[in-house]
Amino acid sequence: MIDLAIAPRPIRSVLVANRGEIACRVIRTCKRLGLATIAVYSDADADALHVRDADAAIRIGPPAAAQSYLNVSAILDAARRSGADAIHPGYGFLSENAEFAKACRDAGLVFIGPSPEAIAAMGSKIEAKKLAEAAGVATVPGYLGDDQSLGRLVREAENIGYPVLIKASAGGGGRGMRRVAEAADMASALQSAKAEARAAFGSDAVLLEKLVANPRHLEVQLVGDEQGNLVHLFERDCSIQRNNQKVFEEAPAPHLPQHVREKLYERALRLGRTIGYTCAGTVEFIMDAGGDEPYFLEMNTRLQVEHPVTEAITGIDLVEWQIRVAAGLPLPARQEEIRLKGHAIEARIAAERPDRDYQPSTGTVSAMYVPRGARLDTGIAEGSEVGLHYDSMVAKLIAHGPDRDVAVANLTAALDEFAVLGVGTNAAFLRDCTTREAFISGELTTGFLAREFAEGWTPPAASLKQLRAEAAAAWATAQPTIVDDPWERRSAFRVTSSGRPAKVEVLLSDDFGEVAVTVLKRPGDTRVAFDDGTTVVAGQPALIRVAPSEVEAALAALVIKARASLAIDATTDVASEGADENRLSAPLPGVVTQLFAVPGAVVEKGESLVQMEAMKLIHTLTAPRAGRIARFYCAVGETVAAGAPLVDIDSLEEE
Ligand code: ADP
Ligand code: ADP
Ligand code: MG
Repeated sequence: MIDLAIAPRPIRSVLVANRGEIACRVIRTCKRLGLATIAVYSDADADALHVRDADAAIRIGPPAAAQSYLNVSAILDAARRSGADAIHPGYGFLSENAEFAKACRDAGLVFIGPSPEAIAAMGSKIEAKKLAEAAGVATVPGYLGDDQSLGRLVREAENIGYPVLIKASAGGGGRGMRRVAEAADMASALQSAKAEARAAFGSDAVLLEKLVANPRHLEVQLVGDEQGNLVHLFERDCSIQRNNQKVFEEAPAPHLPQHVREKLYERALRLGRTIGYTCAGTVEFIMDAGGDEPYFLEMNTRLQVEHPVTEAITGIDLVEWQIRVAAGLPLPARQEEIRLKGHAIEARIAAERPDRDYQPSTGTVSAMYVPRGARLDTGIAEGSEVGLHYDSMVAKLIAHGPDRDVAVANLTAALDEFAVLGVGTNAAFLRDCTTREAFISGELTTGFLAREFAEGWTPPAASLKQLRAEAAAAWATAQPTIVDDPWERRSAFRVTSSGRPAKVEVLLSDDFGEVAVTVLKRPGDTRVAFDDGTTVVAGQPALIRVAPSEVEAALAALVIKARASLAIDATTDVASEGADENRLSAPLPGVVTQLFAVPGAVVEKGESLVQMEAMKLIHTLTAPRAGRIARFYCAVGETVAAGAPLVDIDSLEEE
């Protein structure tokens, strides 16, 4: 193993100035290299996974990123106090902040990234494009001028020809962009784009670009050292985007002619050499799907979210290479030694609800199922809190295969096995994407998601039905059972002992609606009938958690949490027929199996109070009126006679 302690710039310990999955991922490589790891955390992350993974952890401030993960002095102070030799910035936050890189250097710390000069050169999209043009690298036609007056920008847009794209020069992460279709919209779009850019990035400088009609996003991974070596690690295709943000990324790019591939590598390397680039960086291009001219977009002077697909096809650990270069060591391989093997695809798992216009979801992860056969880079685990302070991307699933078809199949299989309970994620949406024809064919442009889900996303009907069937069957099976049944007509639930089918009517209410189903159980065979006349055979390998009046189930990346109850409540009628509205009595002889409330509790009319088993039926007895529970006459396990009093309820007004 490489001894980084005797490198030109010795590294024994690394402070990771980030959080979430990327902090965990960086810590993993550091540990493998025998380096001590120090995490930093905000108050919102005191119990976060990256804090648990690191050897030591230091608090850097309150939840707001500006006061914690973007707080340069707090992070440098943490590095000093922990005796860290180096700082890894991850992506986002301070990773592309030239002043931070310089401040690290000035404090005698190794910044694991390129030089502050290289970061600064690529930090402004305007300056980066000028640099690329000067180096002879083609860029999207547009306007990069200093004259930022509205009049000039409107005239320049006219010259470029509509549609145009307004971009914040300091923008990133898919934000700070506006598409403008025609001249009439230009002035107001400029004003709002500038206001937004000023607020989000601290600068209102914008550039204009011709809107490429049907684009693919292609990018080249570079790594350079201080000895003058610069290599590419092939390309990635990140065309599957929503709101200009990547959702899936893969390597290599599918259906890319070899001569275009050569252009990509040649242009990326040319730009990298021009600025004497060191460490890992990515040169991004955009290309019309029908064309063969990749245009330079921007350079990201950091580790990219999607770097694992490159690792999967090259076998290279990019974080290790970053650390080696930062320590002053040469790259461990020459260009001709770097081989491409197979195909890899990554899916970004976000805590969001695609079925509710992708709004972010929060909560505590109550369970998480990790697939085999794929790489999972995650920032969350069972027990993790997902809040609203930071990025909604919580994990990434990366599948590899000898060719693209196998990689796609492996990704789908991995998504099938993946499930998070307790916090909504986009996993079922991702799974749905991987089975679309265009996805499988690999003929992809940035319009894929908007085209495919023009009306918004809803769970595939067949998947939802199967999942509900599994949930209903599991919930019904978990209900206590009795044998023999003279009560067929009134029965909500019957269970067989002798090959006769048992029939259970279950009402499920989940995020996607409410359904009444009938579960038919026979030994070795469970069928679930829906009220639309269809029947589904249950028994798929779903993940199920059953509670008395609730069931959580996951199948093929789709998760539901449903309230469950028996659809027919034989006793409610009997109880409400009773003369005494304040008292719930046993409608028939049986055993009390569950109490759903305690004395003193305030209940609604119709709320479940007592569960009884009688003559192989399960009866949920509900409150005959709203009020406060005065007393229970029964306890769990007790046998009661028909007509025996069970619960008294006082009215609230009488108090
Ligand atoms: P990548 O460029 O690595 O493919 P993204 O473009 O999604 O991935 O950006 C990576 C992360 O960095 C995201 O969490 C994004 O929100 C964040 N990010 C990127 N650029 C900026 C920026 N200029 N300001 C704030 N956050 C940014
Ligand atoms: P960011 O810094 O936010 O990553 P980029 O310039 O890299 O900004 O662009 C992000 C995405 O926006 C691209 O991947 C592409 O989908 C879209 N995009 C950018 N420029 C153009 C353009 N000129 N025409 C069409 N789409 C574009
Ligand atoms: Mg970009």
